[in-house]
Amino acid sequence: MDIEKQVRDTIEKYNLIEKGEKVVVALSGGKDSTSLLYILHKLGYNVHGLMIDLDLGEWSKIHNKNMTEFCKELKIPLTIVDLKKEFGHGICYIKAIVKKQKNLSGCTVCGIIKRWILNKWAKKLKADKIATGHNLDDETQTVLMNFLKGNVMLGLNSTPMTGIIVDEDLKCKTSGFAQRIKPLFFVPESEIRNYAQKMKFKILYDRCPCAIGTYRVETRAWMAKLNDSQKMKIVENFQKEIPRLKKKFASGQIQECKYCGEPARGEICNACRIFECFKEL
Ligand code: SF4
Ligand code: ZN
Repeated sequence: MDIEKQVRDTIEKYNLIEKGEKVVVALSGGKDSTSLLYILHKLGYNVHGLMIDLDLGEWSKIHNKNMTEFCKELKIPLTIVDLKKEFGHGICYIKAIVKKQKNLSGCTVCGIIKRWILNKWAKKLKADKIATGHNLDDETQTVLMNFLKGNVMLGLNSTPMTGIIVDEDLKCKTSGFAQRIKPLFFVPESEIRNYAQKMKFKILYDRCPCAIGTYRVETRAWMAKLNDSQKMKIVENFQKEIPRLKKKFASGQIQECKYCGEPARGEICNACRIFECFKEL
């Protein structure tokens, strides 16, 4: 199926972007986010690229260069946030320290930090929405991983539009969160790969060098046996369950983190819990 049409349909069906809104596209430099930026730009949306330099040596340098050239060619504004400047360390070092001190490992730490930076910078850039390149395969992995961990609640925000403003029923405010959208939510990874190759985007197709041995990588490996329509069923069936699960499980008022002022479910946000590990170093 035509990816551009799929993206258009998802945006319309879930009302992801209103006319005139500014959309910050979170760029990793890979096929998904690059294709997403290209398609949103082509569809006429007001986009701005936002990339986090994770300090992964040559890999990061190539991604930065590729995205700088890509955005320049399309005349799309691009902001690159340097994790080292923002936080003092690169992602591999941060992950190693946090694993030792808090036994939090894999991409969880990186995900928390990236969400924190994206939210902060999207607000700085006065964005209405943050668009991420999550695709059908990512969403299937998320559903299955959460089931296997016995923590389905972790998937309650796995929807094409997250951070929805106020849920009166749940008394759950999400102020302080820039709303995140996933226009590639129902697009299989294989189709995005074909699209990026057909468009001859100058990008790297290698996986992040820091992701080795993570739970997501293991899940991805055995998930290879599933075909795209099975993945679609898993994701669509979970989407149907979300309203019921939200009523049953979601709780907690969102408040400002007492350290950084970003939204948090308790007194301190997840990112500041990670930053605590570095105070004594
Ligand atoms: Fe971070 Fe994991 Fe993604 Fe690499 S694969 S950028 S470590 S979340
Ligand atoms: Zn905080």
